[in-house]
Amino acid sequence: MANKEDAEPVTGWPRSLRVNSLFSEDELIEDYYDAPPANGGSGWSDHVPSPRPPVPAFSRSSPGTLGDRMDGTAATPLSPTIKVGWLDKNPPQGSYIYQKRWVKLDADHLRYFDTEKDAYSKRFIPVSSISRIASVGDQKFEVVTNNRNFVFRAESDADRNEWIRTLQQIAEERKSKAPERTSMSLTTNGAADPADKSGFLELRGFKHKLFVAVAGDKVFLYKNAEDYRLGIGITYIEMNVGNVKEVDRRGFDLTTPYRIFSFSADSDQEKEEWVEAMQQSIAEALSNSEVAERIWAVESNRFCADCGSPKPDWASINLCVVICKRCAGEHRGLGPGITKVRSLKMDRKVWTEELIELFHQIGNAVANQFWAANVPPSEAITPASGSQERRRFLIAKYREGKYRRYHPLFGNQEELDRALCAAVTTSDLAETQALLFCGAAVTCATGDPQCPTPLALAEKSGQRLQMEFLLHNKTSETPRLEVGGSEEKPYSVPLPSVTHNGFLYKTPSMAKPVGERKGQEEFSRRWCTLQDGVLSYYENDRNAVPNGEIKVEEIVCLVNNPPHAHGIESTFEVYIESERLYLFGLESPDSAREWLKSIAKSFVHPRAEELLALDFERIGRLHYKGGLNLERAKEGWFALAGSTLHVCFEDSERQEPLQLRKLQELSIQGDNEVLVLVERRRTLYIQGERKLDFLGWVHAIQKAAGSSGHTLAEQQLTESDVPLLVDRCIDYITQCGLTSEGIYRKSGQNSKTTSLLEMLRRDARSVRLKEGEHQVDDVANTLKRFFRDLGDGLFTGRWGQDWLRATALEDEEAKIGEYRRLLGTLPTVNRATLKALINHLFRVQRFSGENQMNTHNLAIVFGPTLFQTDGKDYKAGRVVEDLISHYVKIFNVNDQEMKKQQDEIMAIMKMREAASSGTQQAGDFICTVYLEEKKTEAEQHVKIPATMTAEELTFEILDRRKIVTKEKDYWSCFEVNEREEAERPLHYSEKVLPILHCLGTESYLVVKKQMSMENMLIYLASRVGDCKHGMMKFREERNLLGLGLSTGFHDRYFILNHTCLRLYKEVRSHKPEKEWPVRNLKVYLGIKKKLRPPTCWGFTVFYENEKHEKQQWYLCCDTQADLREWFATFLHVQNGGALWPSETSKVRASRSPQDSRLGNISLIPLRGNESEMRNSVAAFATDPLTLLRNV
Ligand SMILES: [Zn+2]
Repeated sequence: MANKEDAEPVTGWPRSLRVNSLFSEDELIEDYYDAPPANGGSGWSDHVPSPRPPVPAFSRSSPGTLGDRMDGTAATPLSPTIKVGWLDKNPPQGSYIYQKRWVKLDADHLRYFDTEKDAYSKRFIPVSSISRIASVGDQKFEVVTNNRNFVFRAESDADRNEWIRTLQQIAEERKSKAPERTSMSLTTNGAADPADKSGFLELRGFKHKLFVAVAGDKVFLYKNAEDYRLGIGITYIEMNVGNVKEVDRRGFDLTTPYRIFSFSADSDQEKEEWVEAMQQSIAEALSNSEVAERIWAVESNRFCADCGSPKPDWASINLCVVICKRCAGEHRGLGPGITKVRSLKMDRKVWTEELIELFHQIGNAVANQFWAANVPPSEAITPASGSQERRRFLIAKYREGKYRRYHPLFGNQEELDRALCAAVTTSDLAETQALLFCGAAVTCATGDPQCPTPLALAEKSGQRLQMEFLLHNKTSETPRLEVGGSEEKPYSVPLPSVTHNGFLYKTPSMAKPVGERKGQEEFSRRWCTLQDGVLSYYENDRNAVPNGEIKVEEIVCLVNNPPHAHGIESTFEVYIESERLYLFGLESPDSAREWLKSIAKSFVHPRAEELLALDFERIGRLHYKGGLNLERAKEGWFALAGSTLHVCFEDSERQEPLQLRKLQELSIQGDNEVLVLVERRRTLYIQGERKLDFLGWVHAIQKAAGSSGHTLAEQQLTESDVPLLVDRCIDYITQCGLTSEGIYRKSGQNSKTTSLLEMLRRDARSVRLKEGEHQVDDVANTLKRFFRDLGDGLFTGRWGQDWLRATALEDEEAKIGEYRRLLGTLPTVNRATLKALINHLFRVQRFSGENQMNTHNLAIVFGPTLFQTDGKDYKAGRVVEDLISHYVKIFNVNDQEMKKQQDEIMAIMKMREAASSGTQQAGDFICTVYLEEKKTEAEQHVKIPATMTAEELTFEILDRRKIVTKEKDYWSCFEVNEREEAERPLHYSEKVLPILHCLGTESYLVVKKQMSMENMLIYLASRVGDCKHGMMKFREERNLLGLGLSTGFHDRYFILNHTCLRLYKEVRSHKPEKEWPVRNLKVYLGIKKKLRPPTCWGFTVFYENEKHEKQQWYLCCDTQADLREWFATFLHVQNGGALWPSETSKVRASRSPQDSRLGNISLIPLRGNESEMRNSVAAFATDPLTLLRNV
């Protein structure tokens, strides 16, 4: 298959011709091409489209043979052919043989081809460059340009004369359209427009680089830069049939139905620019010329209102003039307060029927009667005028109104305004124009309360065109001569409707995150404007056609990079909906900030404008789910500033700050699909709707949620402003180390301390310290190391000495007072941390009987650590000793707090006793379990050893409450998921600890009777076979968060056997649509109400495969019995048939006696602390759940 192209030459297009069609034996060109390869030119055939070229949908080419498309009309020429035929062309030097050429003349070019079927010429000569056509005998004629002559020989004198006559006529017509433009003065290239992009490119098959110019809707190929200047080229490609595709780092293909041009640029950046320019050219070629044709229907609109160039395809929609591209560029420089530039061909939306009609009524004729009433010939411009001349003229004409026909009322504001109010009620647009641009105020008071403005008057009078004219001039400035007449500040006019413009550095847009640092050389300087909801970038400040543009409504995110992130001091990134990002840069941080603010203002929704006031590093819109309604994703506006994420939720007017460093959880779910932020009172799910900007957000939020430095305030914090790292260590020591001998004095292992500290510093949130995995001395040492290395110290550099000095105070009360005062001066985080630490040490010394660490010993250890001294200054230790001794007074601890602590200490002591008696298991958790229902009175706190089964837990709870179990009381432990409003009875042999680790904050455990167990056991005992099949109603959701499209419930046929569950579209289906291994399913009873299950007998099923991909779906049965049978079968299959233990007594006998006096003291929270956990649960449960239903 590799040489398929070689094996199948393109039909109807002989290879030699293909090889030759761009080639020429012409002495001017042939040296520049590679000779055809020896194998007959496969160099070309590689990239000739095969077997059929992709014909773009818009091409008018018929899908017939290639021959069809090769004829003159099928090539979708933009200019109709005027004369065509075979001629002999003068031979190149050194040869006497005339060459037969197919010669084609249209209004713009004389071209010749190898054959009549070729789409691309060997040579083109712009008609505008032809100075003379002369007969030179022997049926020959000569086409003279200002630098080269071309001699052709016709077949007869008649034919020759016909060619001469036609050529002369066309050349004359061309001259008359551009009267000032003599062929001798022509120095610009033959393409009428200046190139949008030009330069050298390699073209595959050619030895030398060609000079390529993208201009308007065509791409021109020249032998070299000199030819480009002269305007005489090889061929041009009409881009209405073009298609550009990037091939590799530097290469790209321009594909047309006739040929693929494989170009290669010097760098990938160059390539991007070429691709962009060519795509723009295609857009221009494809643009509807219907508007232009209609505007040009009026004779005066066929030539530029300012310079007289033919076929002007730009316009100023407020001045109602049609202008050429070069003038349009200068118009743009005047700013939209003076002239609003639009393309006739590209800005299709702006061209309403009213506006087109206005251009018929006013247009160049009426406009120039006013604006150009008095133009001295010396100041007029021509199509050949340079840009300086042009700019000077346009400033004089429109900004200063220098050539205006003054209205008789000029200077009399009141009269002007009154006259305007009268004029707008008539059809006299010329009068309105004169009044408006001589000073009448477009928003003047009419004195008519019904119609307070001229616009309202026009509307009342039914003057549509007057209205249209007034609307486009709502913000127009009145022309005025400038004092001092400085002409060198063309862009200094204040432009109220221009949001922003200026030069920016820009790299080509990207589809991937900006990976590495970009050097300055990778940026190009571009003139950028932000106006009318479009951010456009131009080659320079005088180009009319942008190289590209970004519509602000497509912007989804704006990122302010840190200074010097790239080779340019300030850079920012603009992300758009279609997954691309643009990197801009500026040398001045101030200007960069202005750009950022302007762009942000342009795309951020007004309801989120509060965010604009922030010094954001990232701002944009994202979809999120949160609050009580997780059904529908909403759009929110987010801004990240420092470690705070500010959010404007969809349904709220005010922004809400989320302290990222205080998050309880920050995780990514799915395959980078959802970012989960758990705060104390809520959970927020941010969805990755688009990849590019979402990944940026994820990284930025993760970074902002982490520690940013070595001071206390820069750490991840708990809700009470204590660094999470400190909290984690204290918690752990409290749980496992209070009775450990020499705690905080023993040093632990240095390497372990170092790595643990590093881990906690990086992300304390994700670190769970576990007994068995971590040694208490290592953790203790980590805490000390943290304080010792702390930037600015716990007591701060500023106040540290004052604390030390306070120890000298003899009077105890005075000393305590001073400590309290100093405590008040500490920053919040330092104060909270100090309190947490001293509270902890206070508890540690209570166990000094076991751990040998009394207050004095602790002070010796912690003094130098906290004050970061060498230990010789005894005062440091004294401060700590005082703080511990007077803990209650200094920190203002009330009785209730003290009582709570006492209870905790009691509980801990009990537990340690149990531990020393050998029943303690490593990795114990203490967990809240409810009896029968979730309410405070039913709360039990149970230590869960790693080996504990659901059955053991159940009996533990029943024992504590002294509940006597009767026969056929199927007491079980259930896992209840409040969010899903579903529950699952744990199998009696299931280990509880792993379940606890997976429980989210919206789940809990409850022990209650399983009412359906009896019936399930009866069903299982009586059924035949061990499969179940039948119809159920099925509903799928994409993942655990219920994202994606919900499709409602649909009837499906299911078969459950001993290994898998299969879903069939219908009973008769042969192949299952889906199939899941039963062991990977978790089946819960109940379906959340929001999904509107069709019956109340449903399951929620979670599926997770080996790759941890998750799915969630719902099944609904028609009857309770059906549900029971399905559920029993699931349990039966998943647990190898054993639903209920046959000998419960065994378990009970083996259980170790547990201390029931733990009561409801919560010691070790699963996530955050107990009250936080309950709060988050409460946030989800506003209405009484009905999930405790029994099957
Ligand atoms: Zn012009």
